[in-house]
Amino acid sequence: MYRVLDCITVDHDPYLVVLAAIICAFGAAASSLVATRIASSGRAGAWIALLAINAGSTVWATHFLAMLAFRTTLPMSYDPGLTLLSYLIGVFIIGFSVRVAHGGQRRARGAIAGGVLLGSGVAALHYAGMAALRFPGHLSYDVDLVIISVLLSIALGISSMWVGRRLADAHARTLAAALFVAMTVTLHFTGMGAVRLELSPLAADAAGMSRSALAIAVTVAALVVLLIGITAAIVDQRIASRLASEAERFRTLADGALEGLLVHRDGLIVDANAAARAMFGLNGPVAAATRLDTLLDAAGIARMKEPIDDERAFELSLLNAQGAYFPAEVSRRHIKLADGLQGELLAIRDLTTRKKSEARIAHLALHDPLTDLPNRRLFLELANKAMGHAQRTNERFGILAIDLDGFKTVNDMHGHAAGDELLRTVARRIQSELRDADVVARFGGDEFAILQSFTTQPRQAMALAERLLETLQTPIRLADAEVAISASIGVALYPDDGATTEDLLRNADTAMYRAKADGKATCRFFEAQMDAALESRRRLEFRLRHAITSETLEIAFQPLVGSRDGHPVAFEALVRWNDAELGYISPADFIPVAEETGLILPIGEFVLRRACMEAASWSQPLSVAVNLSAVQFRRRGLVDMVQRALTESGLPGERLELEVTESLLIDNRDEVLRTLTALKEMGIRIAMDDFGTGYSSLSYLQSFPFDKIKIDRSFVTDLEADSQNASIVRAVASMGRSLQMQVVAEGVETRSQAALLKDLDCDELQGYLIARPMPAAEIEAFLQEHPARVSPADAAPAEAAA
Ligand code: C2E
Ligand code: CA
Ligand code: CA
Repeated sequence: MYRVLDCITVDHDPYLVVLAAIICAFGAAASSLVATRIASSGRAGAWIALLAINAGSTVWATHFLAMLAFRTTLPMSYDPGLTLLSYLIGVFIIGFSVRVAHGGQRRARGAIAGGVLLGSGVAALHYAGMAALRFPGHLSYDVDLVIISVLLSIALGISSMWVGRRLADAHARTLAAALFVAMTVTLHFTGMGAVRLELSPLAADAAGMSRSALAIAVTVAALVVLLIGITAAIVDQRIASRLASEAERFRTLADGALEGLLVHRDGLIVDANAAARAMFGLNGPVAAATRLDTLLDAAGIARMKEPIDDERAFELSLLNAQGAYFPAEVSRRHIKLADGLQGELLAIRDLTTRKKSEARIAHLALHDPLTDLPNRRLFLELANKAMGHAQRTNERFGILAIDLDGFKTVNDMHGHAAGDELLRTVARRIQSELRDADVVARFGGDEFAILQSFTTQPRQAMALAERLLETLQTPIRLADAEVAISASIGVALYPDDGATTEDLLRNADTAMYRAKADGKATCRFFEAQMDAALESRRRLEFRLRHAITSETLEIAFQPLVGSRDGHPVAFEALVRWNDAELGYISPADFIPVAEETGLILPIGEFVLRRACMEAASWSQPLSVAVNLSAVQFRRRGLVDMVQRALTESGLPGERLELEVTESLLIDNRDEVLRTLTALKEMGIRIAMDDFGTGYSSLSYLQSFPFDKIKIDRSFVTDLEADSQNASIVRAVASMGRSLQMQVVAEGVETRSQAALLKDLDCDELQGYLIARPMPAAEIEAFLQEHPARVSPADAAPAEAAA
């Protein structure tokens, strides 16, 4: 009787012990390779089975190889049934232990349970293998050592499973394999130490598998281990290279993405693509060591704690590489990381440029591009807000509508660039008169509006309007000219003049039109009756357009006669409008509207052409006088238009007179002078109309080449009552003579007026006394009764005979 342990070094064949160790180590390594597939493959069951066969075979082969290494003279054999059973126990229990360890969600618990199973399975294999031993005598066990061997085996089994639960970690796998080898070897030799062989010569049934048969079985098991090991290694190699190239491909793809891609696990960044690295200034190992929280603001941190909603991208502020927050659109996804654990993928789109252009578009939508002032939409919005505020606080506010006087002229004369410059200057000037709480907007063209918030009295609106009138009247220097404009301002007050911002704006407009009608460059507060006036003005404009397109305007002719002999010298063409709906409308009423709306251009052209045509058909070569509005005059192309009318009608320029008013001479005198000179070169005569009503500067008369002065009707009417008028007429007449200009008196209604004007040295008379304006068809009859001065040269013989 002797202890196995005593002779372990002496009685074991060292070569076979080494071989057993090699097989054990190799088997453990192969098992660990197979184990990695359990995690990464879809078919975990099959791999667990393979692992069980491999590990079982390893332990089994190790055990029996160690038994074969035992040198003894005893006739030993092995019971085949128990030998096979020990193998099956090993395979099944190991398989079961791996399933337990890796099957469930709770890995720590699974590892412990699996480890217990593994240790016990290996012990069961060992003791079943021992039970298969047949020799003359019997075995007895040292129970303490057996218990210790089983506990050691279980402890090492748990360690191996615990370490090996992180299957993706190569180091962990190696350590687990080493612990597995330790478990197998420790168990074997502790187990062998617990055994006592008690010989009894009587017991001679040593029948069973011989030593050599066992050697074959062990070899087969070892081959199985070897085969599985090699296969696993090849598969592993293939898979590893495929994974590597796949990872490479994904890396390229991810780096090519314009979106930033960040992978984090539990708030720790584990990977980032090129775009994300650039966005956040993350590089190499920094990327992997950064906490996601350091890139977020408080709201972002809170948002990231919410569960992932795959559907929705949301906006966040993120900290960029320069340490500034930028707006980003983020979407979140779960992803499985390489070690099989859950991580989170963040796709990040930088919204900075988009936000900027959105802001730019929003600004454009609410501002006037020329002056950058708020536009109508924004103005209405702000006015609505002001109204809400005023309602709560019982305050008042005002809306001022501003329209420039003379802007069209600047545009026509100096071009659009100058017009734009003027508008910008006006915007600046208006703004400098406002308080911070007030808003000025441009509605397009030369229309501005002001929202004036104030708490006390309408007086403040008045004061502002007056300041504006003044600042806008100051001449404006443009790039290549200095221009003078003015503004007409209308004021509407909340709550008196309207309950909605639209009403207020409309009423401010109405008041502004009133200001224009009252001579411009002034300010008016809204009054209820203005509305009606505006309405009728709109109607007038509408009907006037209709009259132009339907060609229902007509022309009346009123003769001018020589004051001494009473012979007609010319006819003045006066436009007539008899509207089907509005009835007869005096040109004194509609011409101003036509001038404001630009309709004067087609009207003026029509009158000129028709007047020339008529005059060309008269039996006597009298002149025709045509009124020209300042608006027409300022338009380029006037000279061409006049030339066309002459050419078309065949009327010589010498028979045309153009009547202009003093308002023409206020600005752009050089330009006006050039045009007048060009007209005169065509033989046309120019008459100064309504003399005495306007700016009445005698110096104008000297500097412009007029041929005629028409003294305004008002002087003539009061001629007898007011002796001052008589002296004015006399002065004008004498000056006219000295400048070689003819002097005409308009509105002569009585014989005594006519006599007086003749005494005052007026050359020509015009008025109801001589004739009212008459239709073209009546001219010939009039000429029959009042023939022109007969000068043999221009009397047509045929006509004279008739
Ligand atoms: P205007 O150029 O001073 O024309 C003379 C106006 O005095 C005409 O009024 C004529 O009918 C009126 N009139 C003539 N004799 C007498 C009189 O003895 N007593 C009174 N009380 N009035 C007399 P009408 O035709 O109503 O024209 C008014 C103004 O309208 C004209 O004043 C002229 O400035 C403008 N106008 C008329 N036709 C045209 C036109 O074709 N083009 C332009 N631009 N203006 C025109
Ligand atoms: Ca006239
Ligand atoms: Ca006149």
